[in-house]
Amino acid sequence: MAVSDKDFVFKMVSDEIQRRMSTNTLPWRKPWSLSGGSHQQAVSWVSGKPYNGINRILLDAGEYATFKAISQAGGRVNKGAKGTTVVYWKIIPRTVTEEDGTQRTVRTPYLRYYTVFNIETQTTGLELRWTGGEVVRNVRPSLIAADVVRLMANKPTIQHGRGDADYSPSLDRVQIASPSNFRNPESYHSTLFHQLVHSTGHAARLNRPTVADNPAFGTDPYSREELVAEIGASMLVAMCGMDFRRTMDNSVAYIQHWLQYLRNDPRAMVLATAQAEKAVRYILSMDALEDDVEISED
Ligand SMILES: [Zn+2]
Repeated sequence: MAVSDKDFVFKMVSDEIQRRMSTNTLPWRKPWSLSGGSHQQAVSWVSGKPYNGINRILLDAGEYATFKAISQAGGRVNKGAKGTTVVYWKIIPRTVTEEDGTQRTVRTPYLRYYTVFNIETQTTGLELRWTGGEVVRNVRPSLIAADVVRLMANKPTIQHGRGDADYSPSLDRVQIASPSNFRNPESYHSTLFHQLVHSTGHAARLNRPTVADNPAFGTDPYSREELVAEIGASMLVAMCGMDFRRTMDNSVAYIQHWLQYLRNDPRAMVLATAQAEKAVRYILSMDALEDDVEISED
């Protein structure tokens, strides 16, 4: 991939938003279940486990392994083969020390990136292992999304029950209707993620002026903050492997609506995308974890 591993999910989502804004016709998702091969889905050659989340969109069906795993098993990657970057989730327990000196354990979702190769089409010397085997069920994306919400560090109060979703900076509180009021889990989580992205702007978190200064409805800062929230929500929906098609058209229409207030300034999109990425990294505790955790592929 042309972009660095760390940025590719963010870039993919923002590229897709841009593309849809200009054409509104291209389908977003790879039809992975129709892609032929021996499998209905992409699985790890090492463990037989299916790839979860956004990897289901990135990978065609088949068996995959890293360069290292392929070499260690005595196979080799074909000359010129280009790997695919995948995201690997793990819930890591960490010990944190509170201000008063007490210690407690928190569980945080951790993202790591790998480049994998298709065993059947991109390597030599290895046999497929899982053909015809029992298909292991994927973790449901809505469960991953629920974990993301549950495990967000320093999160606002989330109150269910009201009709309109909103975030109040003064109360540091998200209000949202109960999940059963939404057409599908994707719509619910997209709406909740939107409000959680707003909450990252609170003075106690990223201190984003477009939230912390409490701008009035319809002003430029207010419009910019709406872009940040909706782009961030789209990124989180994609990272959890939820069905993008159910929310993307709405999100693009919403972004276009607020862009009009900003006279369709393309720089507003670039800035909002960068801030959305920062917000998502905060919600997922990505920066806190990237340097101090060593984990293996399986
Ligand atoms: Zn909003």
